[in-house]
Amino acid sequence: MMILGKYSLGTGDRFAHQGKAQLKASLLAKEAGIEITPVWNKSHREHKTIKSGPADVRKEADNTVKELGWAEAYFVDADHINMNNVDEFIPYSDFFTLDVADYIGNPPEKADADDFVKRYRIFLGELTIPGIGQPFHITEEFLKELANNFLVAIKEAEKIYNHIEKVKGKGNFITEVSMDEVETPQTPAELFFILAEIAAKGIPAQTIAPKFTGRFNKGVDYVGDIKQFTKEFEEDILVIRQVVKEFGLPENLKLSVHSGSDKFSIYEPMNRLIKKHNTGLHIKTAGTTWLEEAIGLAESEGKGLSIAKKIYAKALDRFEELTAPYASVIDINYKTLPSPDEVNKWTGSKFANTLRHNQENPDYNPEIRQLIHCGYKVAAELGNEFTDALVEFEPVIEKNVTQNLFERHILPVFR
Ligand SMILES: [Zn+2]
Repeated sequence: MMILGKYSLGTGDRFAHQGKAQLKASLLAKEAGIEITPVWNKSHREHKTIKSGPADVRKEADNTVKELGWAEAYFVDADHINMNNVDEFIPYSDFFTLDVADYIGNPPEKADADDFVKRYRIFLGELTIPGIGQPFHITEEFLKELANNFLVAIKEAEKIYNHIEKVKGKGNFITEVSMDEVETPQTPAELFFILAEIAAKGIPAQTIAPKFTGRFNKGVDYVGDIKQFTKEFEEDILVIRQVVKEFGLPENLKLSVHSGSDKFSIYEPMNRLIKKHNTGLHIKTAGTTWLEEAIGLAESEGKGLSIAKKIYAKALDRFEELTAPYASVIDINYKTLPSPDEVNKWTGSKFANTLRHNQENPDYNPEIRQLIHCGYKVAAELGNEFTDALVEFEPVIEKNVTQNLFERHILPVFR
């Protein structure tokens, strides 16, 4: 059976130019004694925006691995797929993130809901999870609610999983189930029954991406109650440990944190808890690499800087269009964004400092960072002008991409 390593890092690479720079971060980790399994992830949405396809990601991953002599495991993730688009990914991916968030809240058939409640009735009353001080109080009402919210979604995950298994064969790919793109977080008690049901449906999930408490805005730090997050993160770990024992899910089942890049203020508790409980973690960091490309261009001054400025001006001009698809995962106050005229006066280092995620730098501006995060479509539309610049200014960009992943992500999360 294909097994995902304990610590794994999803690295999206929107324009397929930073494979080497990203893999170098995993190589640096290896030198530092941290084993990271790199996973190339790209969603259907990103492919549509960039006009690339799943075959391109596979090619980039294989070529990069060969070129750098990476001898360890690596995977290619069909990120956030569903029945409508999974077929495009099947020949090229060996990791599938089954996104069933859209099905959460769809009420199931009454017979299915009754059957669910009947099967989990044995847990009514106090449910004690080893390591969690307070038992969960499970009522019939809670089970009914759970069935109404999640049963259809889990059934859909089963359908997608079986569809992939039929083509690729059992054990020949990694399965993740994602429920993160919803408004309401799942509690640890809900996670217990969701995972029990995932096991009952025969889905050998190795990672689960719940919606955590707080906001996971794109490319910027966590916003929310860190104490509450820490409590629930630890309880989720303990719930996973218990469901693996009780329902026979894969031993290496672990949490997956989506929009996991740049969440600096929760890296310390995450790091402490995965070490404390000797458990794994998957973290997805897709868009942070594209931001480093923009930073590298700016830092290169001259032509690179003018392309970075052009991207800013166009992104500002198309604010509504570019930010709409990300509305639930960004917080930008349009009024505070500087005009293109003002930005055009900036030096490369001023632009880079504004964009780079260093909260100590007085120039750092999370609003601009989030806008540029959503603006990769503009870069895609620049076509060769942009991708030629990625090649021309590769050394500066590469340094930024590698350092960002290694120093700001891998070290604080996994060391
Ligand atoms: Zn996600």
